[in-house]
Amino acid sequence: MSVKPLGYYREKYIRSQPSAFCVGCGNGTILNCFVRAIDDLGIPKEKILCVSGIGCSAWIPSPNFNGDTLHTTHGRALAFATGAKAYNGDLVTVVFTGDGDGAGIGGNHLIHAARRNINITTILVNNMSYAMTGGQIAPTTHHGEVTATSPYGNPETPFDITRLVAAAGATYVARWTVNNVVELTRSIEEGIQNRGFSFIEVLSQCPTQQRRMFNIRDTVQRLPVRMLRMLEESTYVKGREARGSVCYAVPKESPDTTLAEIRAKFPSVDAEAVDRIDLGRVIKVTSGTDDDLEGLSTLGSVDRLLGATEGKIELGVFVREERPEFTESLREVIRRAGGG
Ligand code: SF4
Repeated sequence: MSVKPLGYYREKYIRSQPSAFCVGCGNGTILNCFVRAIDDLGIPKEKILCVSGIGCSAWIPSPNFNGDTLHTTHGRALAFATGAKAYNGDLVTVVFTGDGDGAGIGGNHLIHAARRNINITTILVNNMSYAMTGGQIAPTTHHGEVTATSPYGNPETPFDITRLVAAAGATYVARWTVNNVVELTRSIEEGIQNRGFSFIEVLSQCPTQQRRMFNIRDTVQRLPVRMLRMLEESTYVKGREARGSVCYAVPKESPDTTLAEIRAKFPSVDAEAVDRIDLGRVIKVTSGTDDDLEGLSTLGSVDRLLGATEGKIELGVFVREERPEFTESLREVIRRAGGG
């Protein structure tokens, strides 16, 4: 991945206007990774079509990307993109969608685009709610989370959207967070180069809605940083699991009480309070020995201990396959139908 000054990318790829995103939103990072990927690949802007539906992620290309964009209806970006790609197979077609737009309202389009293996790269921004419309439950909202439409906690369990799309037949599937900018940029490049349906899920921070979902009370300046750290503590990269002895202590009640007890009884361990998507505020403990970590379970303020990757979301590239691509097969069928 080549690195050029930020001004180069802004001048070449970004429309000059104030950003519509809230302060600290992850969408700007994803736009940054996208323009670096197409620049690295040397694709002229005129060959790219960005398609989006409705939601905050739809604003990543439209109006920010200074190229051809198609801002469509809720959940239907893949249907429009399918038509564009089938008509003009030379278009590098990239869909930007969110978890509500792509996995909820447009979920059927998503699984069938994967099944057909149409040569479209889909970047799905997962902020775990319908963020733009007020933070309602999406099919990716975790169990128990408080949202605008689940004030007493979400009774449902979420899709693993990456596994769903892999099972539906996509030939390139990856998942990253906005922390993994190098890996994400490389995956966008690999997705565009793949001759088939490429799907990249990006877990992203949404300071505006996630502060309620994850009960994070902090200043506007610190919220994005805490959420990026939450994404880091809630995920691990396949094949790059944490080294050393790490565990998470789930407090029975107050995290501050548990942190104080751990520090008092095990002064040699490194303990800090961190946020997790699945657990809320917990205590991360790093120690030179496994013995210390086992002793933690005897503390009165600790409800339970989790291992370094237990309950975390796996990141990485999960599928790289080859099989017939839809628009090429379609052209062959049309040729045969015409007697060619
Ligand atoms: S509501 Fe959330 S996802 Fe939407 S722009 Fe604001 S921070 Fe970003």
